[in-house]
Amino acid sequence: MIKACVVSIGNELLNGHTTDTNCSYICGRLLSTGIPVVSAYTVGDDIKQIVRSLKRAAEDADIVIVTGGLGPTDDDITRQAFAELLGVRLQVKSALLKDIRKFFSDRGLPMPEKNIIQACVPKGASVLENPFGTAPGIFAKMKRKLFFAMPGVPVEMKEMLEKAVLPRLAKKGAGSFTIVKKVRCFGMGESVLAEKLGNLMDRGRNPLINSTVGSGIITLHVVASAGTKKQAEQMAKKDVNRLRSLLGNLIFGVDDQTLPEVVGHWLLQNRKTITVAESCTGGLLTKLITDIPGASEYFTHGWITYSNRAKTELLGVPKQLIEKYGAVSEQVASAMAIAARHKAKSDFAIAITGIAGPAGGSKQKPVGLVYISVCDGADCQTKKCLFSYTRELIRTRAALTALNMLRLWSSRAKRLKP
Ligand code: AMP
Ligand code: MG
Repeated sequence: MIKACVVSIGNELLNGHTTDTNCSYICGRLLSTGIPVVSAYTVGDDIKQIVRSLKRAAEDADIVIVTGGLGPTDDDITRQAFAELLGVRLQVKSALLKDIRKFFSDRGLPMPEKNIIQACVPKGASVLENPFGTAPGIFAKMKRKLFFAMPGVPVEMKEMLEKAVLPRLAKKGAGSFTIVKKVRCFGMGESVLAEKLGNLMDRGRNPLINSTVGSGIITLHVVASAGTKKQAEQMAKKDVNRLRSLLGNLIFGVDDQTLPEVVGHWLLQNRKTITVAESCTGGLLTKLITDIPGASEYFTHGWITYSNRAKTELLGVPKQLIEKYGAVSEQVASAMAIAARHKAKSDFAIAITGIAGPAGGSKQKPVGLVYISVCDGADCQTKKCLFSYTRELIRTRAALTALNMLRLWSSRAKRLKP
């Protein structure tokens, strides 16, 4: 099977300024073309380091995909590194220079002298067109290894990858198809979930199952490779079904489905409405729900009752209840949800009250303590949660947990299939 390596170039990737989003994009696109990426290197704008990384990349793989360092400024030296790797000189390509001059004249600007370097290509290498910018890409062959160098600007890189690189690689990946299906879970730690999978996550297995986690959402990536696309799809589907039977309603969706989408879809299908009363999340749950187009069909009201006074004045939560149990309590959470539902005349209400920190915690009520209440006309369920890490994560986890409680509420009633 043909393999690829990605080399990302730029000091900004090593000093914490820029996240290497190009690499993950390239990996995903190559994999879906049937070419797995077996290694990736990140290197600064240093000619020796770049040449060394390119050599290493060519040892690892048949195809080397490079991004960054093709700009006109002195710090961008990917071209020079390629010339050194290939043992040739840089040559000015007059057609390229004409294009770059035109790029500027079309905008009524003189071309800075610095841009001449972008018309230079190592002798023997060819040019990859850049419809969005002045930095053309480079294509070179060395000892049967293929090198593609693209600009670092993500929008330019993506266009060049799609239009100039992937079409040249389409045949190389033929005979091997890779399908990636994602299974999205919520409500359990990553290691506990992995234990439920037994040997499904064994390395070397095909499909290979990898797991990633963020804000409590665990994504299982089912990577199936086979001789035909159909075969790979069938293998992936079989594993997704296995995961469904092992994990049940821990699974909330597949591929890029989100919790707000899944919950919104269920509300819409069942013609139900929802209202929200938020304290520590300050409107985050309302934002997540209303991020979904068409949410006006099911979302009625969102109260941000951050202070005790707001809880009493806007929702009518009794002052005595807050004084007796505290604003962060099971009693106040359920009172908020019941009152919100009553006022909005909606089918469901969710209320959240908690301590997002970093200050404001105590021994009895530490930072991260959050009560979430979900109610309909017949029942009210309140969950005590203890989230950790930062204020941002505590608030995100609280909002997602609230959505998940509503999802489970509906699936318990056998109305929402994961
Ligand atoms: P360059 O092609 O090296 O001149 O890069 C131009 C700009 O693209 C940089 O200033 C970064 O903002 C961005 N960039 C470069 N490399 C990457 C990368 N690997 N991922 C995301 N952005 C990048
Ligand atoms: Mg750069």
